[in-house]
Parts: sequence; structure tokens; C-alpha cells
Amino acid sequence: MLVFGKHDAKQCNARSKRSGVQCKKAACKGRDKCKFHGGKSTGPRTQAGRQRISEANWIHGRRSAEGQLKATQDAARIREMADALHVLGALNTDEKFRGRWPKCYEPVQDLEGVERLVQKLVIREGE
Ligand SMILES: [Zn+2]
Repeated sequence: MLVFGKHDAKQCNARSKRSGVQCKKAACKGRDKCKFHGGKSTGPRTQAGRQRISEANWIHGRRSAEGQLKATQDAARIREMADALHVLGALNTDEKFRGRWPKCYEPVQDLEGVERLVQKLVIREGE
């Protein structure tokens, strides 16, 4: 869009909460928003400010590094336990798990493997 009929600028991409109509002002230089919709903001500067914003945007933590690591470990444990049930003859199905193997998955193929898995689970219980 043209500002004052001669300067080329992007249009602010903010949308009205009520009507859904896009803002008609020009965006700040190098930004997507006008000054009324945060185009002048430089974001949180201090450690405390960043922390506050992070906490305000935190929803459940399932996508955080810790949450994803825990999900991967749990998926690996479930597959290892299913392997152990196969080895012990308690699970008589050829059905396979779908998708890729979790990163920390260690296949359980014999009784020694079952023993190792049990020890690993007991250690995790004790944590
Ligand atoms: Zn705007």
C-alpha cells in the first residue's frame, strides 16, 4: 500500500476481534503491524520479562522439551513391555506397532532382555 501517496509499505495484518476486518493502517518499517497493534514493540527485554511472557503463554507443557522426552520414554517402555509379553508368551498376536520406533527403544528379544527391562522399570519406580 502507498503511504501519503508515495511511500510503499505493508498493510498492518491485525484483525478486529469483533468484525474480523483487517486494520487499514500501514505497518511499521520492517514489521507486520502498525504502531497501534504492536508494531513498535521490541518484546520483553529483561530475564524477568521473558519469564513472565513464557509463563503467560504456557498451556500444558506437553510440547516442551521435558514433556516430549517423557512421551518418547513412555512410548519406548510400552513397546518394550509388549516385546516382553511376546517373549513370555502372554501376548499371542502378530500385530505390530505402527510408525517409527521411539528413540530410546531397546528391543527385548529373550529372557535376559525381559530381566533387563524389569530392572530398568524397578530403578525408575525408585526415583
Ligand atoms: Zn493495525
